[in-house]
Amino acid sequence: MSTLRTPAELAEAGLIAPERLAEIERVAGRYAVAISPAMADLIDRADPSDPIARQFVPDAAELATTPEERQDPIGDLAHSPVEGIVHRYPDRVLLKAVHVCPVYCRFCFRREMVGPQGLGTLTPEALEKAFAYIADHPEIWEVILTGGDPLVLSARRLSELMRRLSVIDHVKVVRFHTRVPAVEPHRIDESLIAALKASGKIVYVALHANHPRELTPEARAACARLVDSGIVMLSQSVLLRGINDDPDTLAALMRAFVETRIRPYYLHHPDLAPGTGHFRLSLEEGRALVAGLRGRISGLCQPTYVLDIPGGYGKAVIAPDTVKQQDGCWTVSDFRGGEHAYPPEH
Ligand SMILES: *Cc1c(COP(=O)(O)O)cnc(C)c1O
Ligand code: SF4
Repeated sequence: MSTLRTPAELAEAGLIAPERLAEIERVAGRYAVAISPAMADLIDRADPSDPIARQFVPDAAELATTPEERQDPIGDLAHSPVEGIVHRYPDRVLLKAVHVCPVYCRFCFRREMVGPQGLGTLTPEALEKAFAYIADHPEIWEVILTGGDPLVLSARRLSELMRRLSVIDHVKVVRFHTRVPAVEPHRIDESLIAALKASGKIVYVALHANHPRELTPEARAACARLVDSGIVMLSQSVLLRGINDDPDTLAALMRAFVETRIRPYYLHHPDLAPGTGHFRLSLEEGRALVAGLRGRISGLCQPTYVLDIPGGYGKAVIAPDTVKQQDGCWTVSDFRGGEHAYPPEH
């Protein structure tokens, strides 16, 4: 079985009803579609609201856009000094070498940039300029490969890129953001792992997954290979209506990460990407869900809930409201909602 890419292939695989073909063709004409074999297998055809299907199978709801949605929701373009680089924070840059992914998420925040009609792969000349930019900026401590999904590159191409970074002394950490260990776990083999480590820098891999079922035994084994090789893993998830917006699913997802030796890192509030209104929930709902995790599961399982401020202002932590100051005294709330003066009155 190979990756499903057209509405006809989705219909043939039993993932969309034949009578929906025409509307799905319209969605596919606008936004990229791909479902890897591992994810297609994971979809429960009998469940009309299957959380895996909802992430990858196109839906007519994507044709509806709302006024607040934006082509470039997190303002990448405003902070791109050279093609392929986003430099928003002083000490780290994004390096977007590819705009291809092994699956296309229906809620993708870069959906106008990724896929066959997206920004494509950097030309050798553009890559040259991107590396020159990193080399010329000694304040860049970390290079974050994202895209697109950098792990779609062959081991040979990745090790070429990593060798370019190895000679830039001020870069100490290389981070990859990827879905590959879960959606194409067999790709995580010895040669790919060697390529990820070819820079000689400290390597972090942030796995994007949104539902505990994505952490299949094969996915967990792929992550174990990465972690056993000395790579540190982090998680990255998007809070999505109908996929993980309930306390049990979120708790199970965070536990699945920790059981896989992946430290929960970010839980993103959904971005204002076009045609994604059906996935969005309010900040209030998000905060209540995240606050509910605190008392319920281990501290190891707590992600940081963040919002990328539209326009390119960066990420803001949506911290729970646990401390208040009134008339010079502090009040701290516990996980049950009880309130305590700090410092305590004797
Ligand atoms: C999200 C992001 C980063 C990474 O931020 P961290 O908080 O370090 O994970 C870096 N650069 C840009 C432009 C980003 O959008
Ligand atoms: S893997 Fe990331 S960049 Fe690719 S479609 Fe999904 S959210 Fe977008």
